[in-house]
Amino acid sequence: MISTLDFSTNPRASILIIYTGGTLGMDYNEHGALVPCDFERIVARVPVLKELNINLSVTSFSPPIDSSNVNSKHWVQIGRLIEENYEKFDGFIVLHGTDTMAYSASALSFMLQGLNKPVIFTGAQLPIALPRSDGRENFVTALEIAADKREGVPIISEVCVFFNHLLLRGNRSKKVESRHFDAFESENYPVLAEAGIVIDYNFTALKAYKAANTLRFFPELSNDIVVLKLFPGINEKTVAHILSVPNLRGLVMESYGSGNVPHQPWFLNLLESAVNKGVVVLNVSQCNGGNVIQGKYESSSALNKLGVISGRDLTTEAATTKMMHAFGSYNSIDEIRDCLIHSISGEMN
Ligand code: ASP
Repeated sequence: MISTLDFSTNPRASILIIYTGGTLGMDYNEHGALVPCDFERIVARVPVLKELNINLSVTSFSPPIDSSNVNSKHWVQIGRLIEENYEKFDGFIVLHGTDTMAYSASALSFMLQGLNKPVIFTGAQLPIALPRSDGRENFVTALEIAADKREGVPIISEVCVFFNHLLLRGNRSKKVESRHFDAFESENYPVLAEAGIVIDYNFTALKAYKAANTLRFFPELSNDIVVLKLFPGINEKTVAHILSVPNLRGLVMESYGSGNVPHQPWFLNLLESAVNKGVVVLNVSQCNGGNVIQGKYESSSALNKLGVISGRDLTTEAATTKMMHAFGSYNSIDEIRDCLIHSISGEMN
């Protein structure tokens, strides 16, 4: 159900807020404990919402969830809400827990292609009920950005994360901090905007608005994938076990540095037989910044021959959700590999 909070008689934009839960929306219950609360309580805690000159409509997850519980069904729910209401609103705000926000924003960037409107994820490190909450600032500025237009068209036409003054491309973002307010960064792509006294947009980094774009919604996602993080001493039994998971279709391999892996025969043989069985292997780095360059060192040169796909500068969050999207949307290995090799929503260089 969507309810409209008709605050403004002559609004400059109409925004749909999708409230999924997370720390931002927590408030005290009758026993003094913080629990996810209804959206009306959030409005009461952020009275300035009434003064933004933006028409706000809201729909909530019922009940709101901690984002550690997010799964692909929730992404379909968010994507469907945006697809069904795409023509009615100028932009969309997703209030979401920070823990898995980078995964959700990445997934939605692959599920909603041809976007011409802003979809901005935001949340908070401290509940809105607390005096020092960062939630008010994050929420209000995200709304301002979603409403911003230049020459009559939205400035933002992609899926983003707004947090602690920074607007980041969603599929480049990563949660890197659980204590301080600067929870997100985007090591491999410039900040899209910085909110100070004014909102300073980095126009050359933004995805360009194209009048001819039409929204294409890809609701199918596959969960038959696994992420394998390498560590010195990882043993054959463990890798063999992971690669023998029934119905496994894709492996996101978190390698070292610029894409390096141990070059012991047992390891390479296991990868080879997985690829031969049809498992698609995508190589991403454990480093937040930089690129996978297969073949730069001897310890990665075998990977090209084995058919391992270089994830270049993808984050693990983007690699994981891109694989889920690729296996959900395409059938043949060639189409899946093609989807993984090319950038589809600005997720890699
Ligand atoms: N556990 C919370 C969540 O992700 C943390 C947060 O919102 O910051 O829902």
